[in-house]
Amino acid sequence: MAAKLLMGKEIADKIKVELKAEVEQLKLKHGVGPKLVSVAVGDNSASAVYVKSQAKIAEALGIGFELREFSGSSSEHEIIEAIKKMNHDKEVSAMIIQMPLPKQIDAKKVIAAMSPIKDAEGMHPENMGKVVFGGAKIAPCTPSACMELIKAAEINIYGMEAVVVGHSEIVGKPLALMLLEKFATTTVCHIATGERGALPEHVKRAEVLIVAVGKAGIVKGEWIKEGAVVIDVGINRVGDKIVGDVEFEAASQRASHITPVPGGVGPLTVTMLMRNVVEAYKIQHS
Ligand code: NAP
Repeated sequence: MAAKLLMGKEIADKIKVELKAEVEQLKLKHGVGPKLVSVAVGDNSASAVYVKSQAKIAEALGIGFELREFSGSSSEHEIIEAIKKMNHDKEVSAMIIQMPLPKQIDAKKVIAAMSPIKDAEGMHPENMGKVVFGGAKIAPCTPSACMELIKAAEINIYGMEAVVVGHSEIVGKPLALMLLEKFATTTVCHIATGERGALPEHVKRAEVLIVAVGKAGIVKGEWIKEGAVVIDVGINRVGDKIVGDVEFEAASQRASHITPVPGGVGPLTVTMLMRNVVEAYKIQHS
């Protein structure tokens, strides 16, 4: 079987048309539209690329965008004070903190200092907590992107075997909760699963497989169950190429649907960020 490609960009383009129309309506209703502030502390070439794409997409959707840069020697107190000011600034609808932060700054404290209704990435403890209850309005972006891909594949995951590889706070853990909300029978694999050599047996059972590890080819194509939906979140540089965590060629011979890397999850993640900005604005104006 040659798998159908799940192209995040195509799905993102459809969502962006809806978001743009919604932003226009909100501007007509409230005068001033939503605005995202991106907070960057120190120089980081990887996050600079992400910031550029945030600015470009925000502009295309009619969302205001501002980059607030701080020196790499800024103290934690300084950054937290700046965030608290933005919490009270009516012009700021949402914020995103570029990671990683310099080592003198505790990222968890900075995220917790944000107002949960201005948290563009859905990483504030309150927003994370709401994922447990289901129907969170502002939810972590990459897990939301994975769920949009499953929706686009038109697969009802009710009762299906879902396996998540990776249990990070930003992807694996919230994603497992979102899969549970849709009644998938969900297994989460992590470093100890790998150390025990049990990764193949779990992956082989997966009807929906989502891999977010950051190790090229950690999931072998031959492990993929015939007809499985495979979502590869991993981004790895191998030579001059970007590849995922799943052996793409071999996996696509067995899967029914698969995301390419690049072009799968990535383009949708930034769209989910913009959706959170619009949701944040709506909550603030309700
Ligand atoms: P992370 O915080 O490093 O988490 C990686 C996870 O993989 C951890 O839970 C780790 O377990 C687990 N792991 C490591 N080795 C393993 C093994 N041998 N077997 C099973 N599990 C293993 O990374 P992340 O932030 O979640 O990101 C993961 C990947 O997704 C990276 O390549 C990143 O660049 C990419 N990513 C892409 C997007 C996108 O929009 N496309 C967004 C976010 C991240 P332990 O914690 O127990 O060590």
